[in-house]
Formats: sequence, C-alpha cells, structure tokens
Amino acid sequence: MEIDLQPYAYFEGEIVPADQAKVSIATHALQYGTGAFGGIRGYLDVSGETINIFRLPDHTRRLMNSARILRCELNLDADGLAGVIQDLVAKNNPHSNVYIRPFIYKAGIELTPHLKGIRDEIAIYVIQLDDYFAMDHPLRLMVSAWTRIADNIIPSRAKISGGYINSSLAKDQAAEAGFDDALMLNERGKISEASGANLFIVRNGTLITSPVNGDILEGITRRSIAKFARDLGIALEEREIDRSELYVADEAFLCGTGAQVAAIGNIDGRPVGNGERGPITQRIQEVFFACVKGEDPRYGDLLTKVPVRP
Ligand code: PMP
Repeated sequence: MEIDLQPYAYFEGEIVPADQAKVSIATHALQYGTGAFGGIRGYLDVSGETINIFRLPDHTRRLMNSARILRCELNLDADGLAGVIQDLVAKNNPHSNVYIRPFIYKAGIELTPHLKGIRDEIAIYVIQLDDYFAMDHPLRLMVSAWTRIADNIIPSRAKISGGYINSSLAKDQAAEAGFDDALMLNERGKISEASGANLFIVRNGTLITSPVNGDILEGITRRSIAKFARDLGIALEEREIDRSELYVADEAFLCGTGAQVAAIGNIDGRPVGNGERGPITQRIQEVFFACVKGEDPRYGDLLTKVPVRP
C-alpha cells in the first residue's frame, strides 16, 4: 500500500514541508529500531467541517509510555504532543480521512545500542487513509507460526519500531499463503493479537478479548469497544483465548486504528460461525463508525475536533 503523504510534517521542533523532514542513514533508530510510534485516525465529520481525531489524548499518553520504556527524554509531554498534532492537522487542512503517525525516536548518531543519553526527537507525518482492510467481505486469517514477542523480549505493550519485525514476519507469511492477516500465539500458546490489531471473539453472546498482560498492544480501539459493548448491554470477558476457541467461536473481528472494526469470516481455513459478519460484530461496527464520524453525541468526548477551512 503506497502512502499518500500530506504536504506538511513535524520535524525537530517545527512544522516543515514533508519532503524536508529527513534523517541521517546513521540514525540510531534506523539502525536499531529504537523508536516508538503512534497511529491515530482523523475522520472527516459528517458536516465536512472538522477532522475528528479519535481519542487523541489516549494515543499521546500511550506513545509517551512507549517512549518511557525506551528512556526517551523529550521537551514535550503528552498534552504538548496532542497540541502539535492538532496544529499539524490544521496546517495540512485535509478534506478526507487521515492517519497521523507520530514517531519518537533515538535520533543520535551513535554506535552503541544504549538507550540512555542518546538524543531523542519527535517527527509526525499525516497521510490520507480510508479503509486498511476491505470492509465488503470478512477477513481470512491464519494462526501464524511466528510467536508473539513476550514482555521480557520486546514489550508488546509498547509500540516500539523494532518490535514490528515480529508483525512483519507474521504478516508476510500470511500474505504469501493467501490470507489477509495472521493471529499470533504468545509464548504460553494463547492467542495474543494480529499483526497490527487486537482480536475479539464472540461465544454465546459474550465478547471475549485477550487481557492486557497477554502480550498485546493495549489497543485504544479495543478499550473503546469495551465501552461500546457496555453501553449496548453486551457482556465482555477479558481473558486468555485458546487457539481452539477460534474454531468454535460464533463471531470474530479485529479492531485497531488501521483495522477499524473488521469482521473475520475464516481462520485456518475454517469458517467462523457461518462465515459471514455476525450480528454483534455488525452492532459494534455501527456504533464505532457513528462515533468517529461525529454522528453519535454520546461519544463526542472521544473526539478532538480540528476545524478545516473550505
Ligand atoms: N496491536 C498491534 C500490534 C497494533 O499495531 C495495533 C495498531 N496500533 C493494535 C493492536 C490496535 O491498537 P489501537 O486500537 O490503539 O490502534
């Protein structure tokens, strides 16, 4: 998927034309993967008058926590970063759905893989993005032969650049085999998550998702779905999921900033339920999309609205 870069980026403390945001080939983060990133969506409001950034403060807080794990020292805090992101969206003035990618990285030109004492920087770019997964048919997934990285290897809780090699290996293997994505098992053999999204399954009317100590990224969409489920009166269990539960689940879906809420129709060649998008998945999808487009006043506080000029 080629990206459609918006004209302005944030780089080394200022908003600059995106093609001027460049780093040295010797950059620590480029060599060692010592960066942490966020992925945030801005949706064009139904009115066309604002970009609705979904859960911006939650995203900047999680990113700062990832940066903390990498011992980054920055002169912006989570609120300051959220302010810069709003300014950057306003400067680009998009009239489409966008994806915002803030990146905190070890910018020093250093040979040692140390974390402490290496210059840290923040860069942010914005791209136009509609659906990451096709929404017109349920996904076909496989359980990957690659194990999800454990907390004492590379913490999955942190959105660390180097950790995404694990996602890349699983995604690549799945794509080669003709699947849309992969689900990974953790070292205990329990389901963790997909290459870039969290998993929910439905059994007997109850939503089930892996716990935050299950070697997953603590997804912000996942947390939002827990809220939507509560409001819809759908029971939710946060607990370890066995592989064989995938084969007997009534429904399953992926969720994430990129993935949004994407129904799963087949796992390991076995249909999930009847192979079609299930009714609970559909209800969650409807609430999610109404929320992000600004159509549901109950969830207005989940959106940071940036006005766009005509
Ligand atoms: N897991 C992984 C590995 C991811 O990359 C993502 C995408 N950020 C998610 C889960 C979903 O997290 P969120 O809902 O915060 O985007």
